[in-house]
Amino acid sequence: MSSDTDPTEFGTIGEATAAPDWVGGEDGDPLVEVDGLTKYFPSETGFIASIRGAPDVQAVDDVSFEIREGETLALVGESGCGKSTLARAVLQLQRPTSGSVRFKGQDLTEMSDRQIRPLRQDMQMIFQDPQSSLNPRMKVGRIIEEPMKAHDLHDKEGRRERAKELLDKVGLDRAHYNRYPHEFSGGQRQRVNLARALSTDPDLIMCDEPVSALDVSIQAQVLNTMRELQEEFDVTYLVISHDLSVVRYIADRVAVMYLGHIVELAEKEELFENPQHPYTQALLEAIPVPDPSATKARATLEGDVPSPINPPSGCRFRTRCPKLIRPGRFDGDREGLDEDLDEDVREAMLDDYEMSEETWRDTLGFARAVKRRSFVLEEDYDAERTARLLEDRFFGEGFPPGESGDVVQEACRLLAEDEWEEAGDLLERTFEESSICALERPYYEVEAEHGDDVHVAACHLHKE
Ligand code: SF4
Repeated sequence: MSSDTDPTEFGTIGEATAAPDWVGGEDGDPLVEVDGLTKYFPSETGFIASIRGAPDVQAVDDVSFEIREGETLALVGESGCGKSTLARAVLQLQRPTSGSVRFKGQDLTEMSDRQIRPLRQDMQMIFQDPQSSLNPRMKVGRIIEEPMKAHDLHDKEGRRERAKELLDKVGLDRAHYNRYPHEFSGGQRQRVNLARALSTDPDLIMCDEPVSALDVSIQAQVLNTMRELQEEFDVTYLVISHDLSVVRYIADRVAVMYLGHIVELAEKEELFENPQHPYTQALLEAIPVPDPSATKARATLEGDVPSPINPPSGCRFRTRCPKLIRPGRFDGDREGLDEDLDEDVREAMLDDYEMSEETWRDTLGFARAVKRRSFVLEEDYDAERTARLLEDRFFGEGFPPGESGDVVQEACRLLAEDEWEEAGDLLERTFEESSICALERPYYEVEAEHGDDVHVAACHLHKE
């Protein structure tokens, strides 16, 4: 299924990569083309920080995709994974550190703020909180007219008429023109935001968590209105959401973000039915099933998203990935063993080659549990007893063979001496940091092609 694409085509670790054509599919004109977009922020500001060379917050790192005219592209991921920063960098509300953003063929990153200003009427935004994004001292009619005024569209009467017409279109009433925001419910206020965004007849609306502040019963109504308006106004949406049910309802294509990278991008149904990246799979597994009789245990993503100040090397998901690839020297595949090796070396290596997939999962689970100290018992803590508990939990059937077993036993000894830090570092060094997942950043591999829709995922498991 996986038709490989030469990874060198997209650069090496740390290099900006050229936007592969197929990330956006092949049909129609792309409205937005994002290529190698990167946005770093200083983690500290001030003179001392600049002298010390404080590290950057790597909020968005080398991201490429397209948004097609008339579609809804959703960006999903946990909080803090860079979705909002990416969207703001696309709209140039925050200038990117590097990379390019072409909007209707023009490279926004090459333009000054003044040159971009006239284009802003074609790029509007809707924010998460409908309450705070509306000026409480202005009547909604004036709120809707503001962007038209800023871009010098229509005369006074024309603006008033358009505002009333838009109130009608978004499911409110023309008579609401003279009301204040506090007189509306949350859902109605978000409709006012929609009317304001549509007032300049934009091509693109970026919607940042557009319904997450609303009651579930209201969410579907607002999403339906958004869909109807999209057709009527021929507008393109970039929707940011952490809620996969919202995404499934409204999106045409979905890009999954993790810690500043897009790790998977596909047409919506393809992504939900056939997720390829372990992070996407974990996110989908975690969706609650509305069936009280469902017995299947739901997978949970362990641990927190690491800091973007010092993200993990290689694949950024590797510290939480349940499918982290076994380092080559423990991989159990005898076929790759060089026939010409010295007999002693060969014997020693064969020992390690016996590590089964199951043992590897236990070893990885053990290493993660130690690293997170998830087995430290709060009451009556006894280091020796905790070490024994860990041993039983993960290696009840015996330790792994060869070098890996020696390392695990050494880690258990350190735990019994209450040396968690040292044990965690030893395990991480041995089992995680020599995995290809830690050594090389994975780039997009094509998973499937359905007509013009291309499904890509960035994971070493899918490398041919
Ligand atoms: S590259 Fe490795 S760590 Fe990253 S998602 Fe794939 S298997 Fe997991």
